[in-house]
Amino acid sequence: MVSIIKSKLPVDRDDINAMVKKAIDLIGGIEKFVKKGDVVVIKPNLFAPYPPPISVDRRVVGALVALCKVAGAKKTVVIEGVSVGTLMKRANLDASDRENRLVRGMKTVDMMKLLGLKKSVEAAGGEVCGVEDVQTERVAVQNGKVLHSIEYPKVILESDVFINVPALKTHTMTLVTLGIKNLQGILTEADRYFGHRDDIDQHLVDILKVRKPDLTLVDGLIGMEGMGAGEGGTPVPMGLILSGTDPVALDSVCTRVMGIDNPFVVNTTRIAAHDSLGVADPTRIEVVGETVDSVKKKFQLPINYLQPIDTMVTGVYPNVDVYIGGACSSCWLMAAGVLANIAKIKEGASLIVGADPKVPPGKNWDLKNTFLLGDCAIGCAGEVREIRNKITLEGYDTFLYGCLPYQQAMIKLEDILLERGITSEQEIIEKAKANRQRFFEYYKEFDPSWELEL
Ligand code: SF4
Repeated sequence: MVSIIKSKLPVDRDDINAMVKKAIDLIGGIEKFVKKGDVVVIKPNLFAPYPPPISVDRRVVGALVALCKVAGAKKTVVIEGVSVGTLMKRANLDASDRENRLVRGMKTVDMMKLLGLKKSVEAAGGEVCGVEDVQTERVAVQNGKVLHSIEYPKVILESDVFINVPALKTHTMTLVTLGIKNLQGILTEADRYFGHRDDIDQHLVDILKVRKPDLTLVDGLIGMEGMGAGEGGTPVPMGLILSGTDPVALDSVCTRVMGIDNPFVVNTTRIAAHDSLGVADPTRIEVVGETVDSVKKKFQLPINYLQPIDTMVTGVYPNVDVYIGGACSSCWLMAAGVLANIAKIKEGASLIVGADPKVPPGKNWDLKNTFLLGDCAIGCAGEVREIRNKITLEGYDTFLYGCLPYQQAMIKLEDILLERGITSEQEIIEKAKANRQRFFEYYKEFDPSWELEL
């Protein structure tokens, strides 16, 4: 059973408290989940140091903590591990600098404080912690297909009740990010980071096999469409809170609420149902409160779900030649991500990607401006190895490592362009500030009481 509660926007703290309570009441009430003396762990979605919809609303989490306390919880802990991009410090930016610290490079608890979530949780009688600060235990993943064992926070393993609080967002790698995707935040930084390959969907479903949340509450007050789940996305006012006990059913319903009529196109939902972790078939899910049809909006999908990824990689920039072959979908996506930066090299550049790119033999490469993206390309034999060796001997380092070559590759490229004076630190900061302003202004209108806790 999945409950849907809708309210007109904007909503204040009392409205949110009522919505959260009602959503849970419709599926049995908080007492069904939390008993006297229980230790409860809540996992919210805090993607980056930005307010909703990039991160969940602090007041939703506070309302949930307060409800757990009323039900008799002995202790309620709110735990999260921020996105890998947030943990990774941008080159040459001083994270302790107040003005620049929002760019990236921040630990989870600092971010919880900054966004007011720590205060909201503590005021309701709970406590906060970051995944990077707690003890973990290596646990086997029963029936895991790509994850066979993982480092898992002990605080969740040992809790009596586990509550998942995702947001309602699109995602460039997984199409949507809801309850199943939100669990990635409980992994260690390394597992989180390297989990973003083309097998990410099965990887996410495998995490769910360790411990299924007892309850999932979706913050759908403001959703996100487009190039989510971070600063690239666009807010969508929704005024929704959804809850349920079956994480697969909840993701299935949320997907339809976002205007994607067939929930089986979301890989995590389809695979989780296939692996018997829940029900994805809409005809088998009871929805209480509002109906899906009465609340749904057609969310703009990420552009890579609307047009072939090739159209964003090959034949795009006149000054960049792309040699891509034997690359998985993740490296195609990463190639699309780095190309705009490589294209800033006015004299022209080459990008080599994949396990078997068919580069022309004997070509006179401009080694300084020849970039190898991903461990597959960097580890290639044959002609590509010759190119790699020449680049090294000439003293250049244009190797964008990683499988997948994610944030660290982006940051390395950014550093190269900074060193060469092609971009400036100021340009990076200004871009981040513009993003910050866009989201902060939007959210301030929604909740004028919100202030950053610097
Ligand atoms: S390095 Fe290879 S396997 Fe890894 S993301 Fe790139 S193409 Fe895929």
